[in-house]
Amino acid sequence: MAFPEKVDYVIVGAGIHGLSTAWHLAAKLKAKGKGDGSKIVVIDKDSIAAGASGIACGVVRNNYFQPAMRELMAMCVEVWESDAKNFHYHDVGYMQISPECMENDVAEIYAQQKKYWI
Ligand SMILES: Cc1cc2nc3c(=O)[nH]c(=O)nc-3n(C[C@H](O)[C@H](O)[C@H](O)COP(=O)(O)OP(=O)(O)OC[C@H]3O[C@@H](n4cnc5c(N)ncnc54)[C@H](O)[C@@H]3O)c2cc1C
Repeated sequence: MAFPEKVDYVIVGAGIHGLSTAWHLAAKLKAKGKGDGSKIVVIDKDSIAAGASGIACGVVRNNYFQPAMRELMAMCVEVWESDAKNFHYHDVGYMQISPECMENDVAEIYAQQKKYWI
């Protein structure tokens, strides 16, 4: 593919964060009637998902103790679920095995998960 001579947005790094940034930016521009995202270029010193994104286990989990992290992850899950087929997202649930000393923390996580998801 020929490299364009002029673009409006250059995103450095084609890992999950760079590609997510490009995807969200394109959606925002389109919603504002400012094009279809063709003015965005993602460049990488190697290739798509050459870094951590290419070797990640692919687990999308909302099971963090910090409320802010859980809220952020709930928003991420919404994105994955918004187009599960094209994102190859498979919702399978998960099981957590923890020592007894974590019982209260895990109960708190569960209570907060229900708050966001119901
Ligand atoms: C073994 C492993 C398993 C994991 N499992 C999970 C999981 O199950 N679930 C989960 O949510 N997270 C998981 N993670 C964490 C997750 O993979 C990372 O948080 C995420 O991929 C980081 O994405 P990124 O886009 O920030 O970085 P990267 O994927 O590393 O992308 C950075 C990109 O930038 C490019 N780049 C760097 N410098 C330059 C430069 N100067 N010029 C041009 N390009 C450049 C690199 O080539 C690379 O492609 C895992 C991580 C590892 C290592």
